[in-house]
Formats: sequence, C-alpha cells, structure tokens
Amino acid sequence: MRPLKSETKREMRPRIVVLGAGLAGLSAAWHLARQSPDLSRIVLEKDDSAGGLCRSRSVDGFTFDYTGHYLHLRDPAMTAWVERLLGDELVEVERRSLIQSHGVRLEFPFQANLHGLPPELVARCLIDFVRASDDLAPPNDAAEPFGRWARRVFGDGIAEAFMIPYNAKLFGVDADELTSEWVAWAVPRPDLEQVVRGALGIANRGMGYNPRFRYPRCGGIGSLPAALAECVADDLQLGAPVARIDAAGRRVQLADGREFAYERLISTLPLAELLHRIEGLVTPGGAPPLSQIAARLRWTAVIDVGLGIDRPEIAGGAHWIYFPEPEYPFYRAGFPSNVCRAMAPEGCSSISVEFSQRPDRPRPSHDELVAAARGGLERAGLLSPEDRIVLSTEALIDPAYVIFDAERTRLVDEALARLDEAGILSIGRFGAWTYSYMERALIDGKTAAERVAAALTPAAR
Ligand SMILES: Cc1cc2nc3c(=O)[nH]c(=O)nc-3n(C[C@H](O)[C@H](O)[C@H](O)COP(=O)(O)OP(=O)(O)OC[C@H]3O[C@@H](n4cnc5c(N)ncnc54)[C@H](O)[C@@H]3O)c2cc1C
Repeated sequence: MRPLKSETKREMRPRIVVLGAGLAGLSAAWHLARQSPDLSRIVLEKDDSAGGLCRSRSVDGFTFDYTGHYLHLRDPAMTAWVERLLGDELVEVERRSLIQSHGVRLEFPFQANLHGLPPELVARCLIDFVRASDDLAPPNDAAEPFGRWARRVFGDGIAEAFMIPYNAKLFGVDADELTSEWVAWAVPRPDLEQVVRGALGIANRGMGYNPRFRYPRCGGIGSLPAALAECVADDLQLGAPVARIDAAGRRVQLADGREFAYERLISTLPLAELLHRIEGLVTPGGAPPLSQIAARLRWTAVIDVGLGIDRPEIAGGAHWIYFPEPEYPFYRAGFPSNVCRAMAPEGCSSISVEFSQRPDRPRPSHDELVAAARGGLERAGLLSPEDRIVLSTEALIDPAYVIFDAERTRLVDEALARLDEAGILSIGRFGAWTYSYMERALIDGKTAAERVAAALTPAAR
C-alpha cells in the first residue's frame, strides 16, 4: 500500500473512528459520547444523510421507507431509549400481515393458518406436520440445509407450499444452498394444536417476532435515525466515503484523500466491502487473505418499487402480503399507507413492491418493474385495471439479505476474529454479515462502544 500522507497539525486525530451512520454507527457514537466523553470520535458516512437502510424518502406527498421498516423492540433499555428519542411520535400498531397462496389470502404465519387453502392441500400439510412432529429429532447439524430443515420441522406439505418457494424467491437461490442457522428468531414453529386450529379456521393471531410493532406517527422510519443523528451531529461527517483502511498504520483514507488516524475502528460497512478496502494486515500462515474471504461472501439485493395509487383503500387494510408463488415476480408487497395514513396524500394509498435482485444479474428497467408489479398486483386482485398509478419510485438495496450458505459462518468468524485482533470491530447487519433487525443494530452499536471504551481506559492500556 502506498504510504498515506503524513498528518498536518490541523488534521483531526480521533481515537475512535466509526464507519457508517446507519443505526449501528449512530448508536456507537451516541453511547461513546455519553459513556466516554473523554475519547474523541468521528463518524464517517458516505451518503449526504444519516440512517443507512433505515431512511425514508418522500416524493409528491408520498413517503416510502427502504421497504417497510417496523420496530419490534424487546430489550427494555433499547425500548426506553427509542421512546425517549421519538417521544409521542412513536405509535404502537397491531400487525396485519397475510400470505397470498392458491388464490386465497391467509393470515401470517402460513403454517398456523392453513384454512382456506384447497382441502387436499390442507390435509397434506396437516398429515405431514403430524408425521414430522412424531420424528422431530433435535438437529445434529447447525448448518442443516434450509430445505431439509423445513421438511423435518414442518413436514413436506408446508415446506413445499410455503417455506421452500418463499425463501428461494427471497434469497434468489435454491433452498438447499441456504443453511437454517438464521431461522431461530425469524420462523415461528406452532405446536400441533395451533396448526389444527389454524387449519379449521380458528385464527392464530399474534405469532412470530413482530405481532405488534412501533412506528413513527409521521415522516416514516427515517425519523428515528434523524433524531439520533441530531444528538451526535458534532461527530458526523456526511458525504465522506471511505476508500481504504491502512490496518497496520491504523488510518482511514476517504475518497477525497482526507485521512483519519484511529486507535480503535468500529465499522458498519458491509463486511465484504470492508475486507476489500483493508490493506496492511498480515495473513497468518495457511489462512486465506481477507480479499479472498470477501470474494466468497454471497448476498442478494432488493429493488423496492414504490407506487402511489389514486384511491384511499387498498388491500383491505393489510400491512404487507407475502407471495411465495412463481406467478408473482415479487416476494412481498407492503402497504405503507395502511400502517400510517400520513405516508400517502389524502385520497391516495401506497404500495411498496419488493423484487429480489441477484447482484450479478442485469437489473430490469423501471418501466419493466412497474409493469411487472402492476401485473402481479392485478392477478392477486389487489389492483384493478381502472386504478391509476399516480407515482412510481424505485430504490436499490444492495446488499439486502446475506446468503447463509455452507461457508458463511466459517468465513465470517475467521474475518471478524482477524479484524478484532487489529483493533477493528465490524458490527451491524452487514458488518457482522448476518440477518438482523433495527433493535439489534442499536444494541450492536452500544456493545461496540462499551468494548472500545473498556480497551482504551487507562487500566487497560
Ligand atoms: C428489505 C429489508 C427490510 C427490513 N425490514 C426491517 C423491519 O421491518 N424491522 C427491523 O427491525 N429491521 C428491518 N430490516 C433490517 C434493518 O434495516 C437493519 O438491521 C438496520 O437498519 C441495519 O443498520 P446498520 O447500521 O447495521 O447498517 P446500514 O443501515 O446498512 O448502515 C451502514 C452505513 O454505512 C454506510 N457506508 C457503506 N459504505 C460506506 C463507505 N465506503 N464509506 C462510508 N460509509 C459507508 C452506508 O451508507 C450506511 O449508512 C430490514 C432490512 C431490509 C434489507
């Protein structure tokens, strides 16, 4: 690596540099400022606004998140903190999510609400679930392929009608290329009684990780990072894309050449990107270089197509609907104006249509995506040919979902351990290269701030 420019006297010398001002980076800065005000710090964010994935965009009176972002808070400290940050602006909402399958709409989750599906399919799902329950052995393989896991835990009927096609569509790979490591919090397993009751039409509401969620009254989810960014405004450098990191010299260089020295680095950049940007780390004998690890990490992107519709009612008030079947080119459609009326102008409603996009495949044009969204929504009976689309926007989320393949855990563990030894904590949804949520990002930032502060206290030095 070319030696970095020597520092001038006027150059800032922060001891802690945070990369990225999404929720994880903002939380790290907030906790550092409160808990270790004597340690200087700076947050470098490439975009012109803070928030990362948790931002909102407003166009012509419509507000869209980067697909629906709903707060499911469980940690008491995080809950109290978010409540303090947003005050009366935070409202609680009871989830209304559905699944479109075999021409009907079922309550979420599929496995506990089979009523309404063709009777033959309900019978198959039930019989296979009972058989699976009889032989349900604890997994002997933490990285059990997802398809095999779904068949073992739910039986072939439920696995084939929902679990396998939905997740293959979302992640853009065959279900057995995925492991089941990420399912613990995301996929609820009902007991036999719940499955039978759901098959008979006795609704099993409130299952899963987000039966109720919090959301800002107006402004979209972007209100949360906006409130947080205000508290750490003095530490934020927006429009500051990190180009490379000299891990040996402990310096970060921006695309414009500015440099920042650090004693500890907290990075929330996608791990694959961070590893490509790092230079100067000695590779232990026999271990793969970090750039090789980066090249083997896989993910999928999402294109979020936001539509404004010229009528106030949409989808019977549903908040979002899952689409496991191939006749629908998207995996989920959300209805922001059903969650929060302020997301669309009076007399209108809004839809956020989520297309999975493999990063290595050509991206369809905006017109193609809008036509595909409209076609699928009409086939599902959610739009009629008379409905007018008064607005369409599009956002690429890349990366959006980490692919948990058989290599992921070993590669990520190896990379994070080597970074840690070099004084770099890689955290957040993509820093830890995992499947997680907003509360987790806030907790990650807090934990990283505590670890860094502990390492830099005089006793530890
Ligand atoms: C489709 C989708 C739906 C979701 N829905 C929900 C939901 O309903 N509820 C929920 O709790 N969670 C949801 N999540 C998860 C949630 O968005 C994340 O867990 C959380 O926002 C991650 O925050 P983060 O700070 O870890 O990462 P990010 O928000 O990705 O922040 C990383 C930051 O780093 C910056 N950056 C990247 N490269 C550079 C560079 N070279 N230089 C400087 N800065 C850089 C980025 O611009 C970004 O601001 C969803 C995620 C997706 C993809």
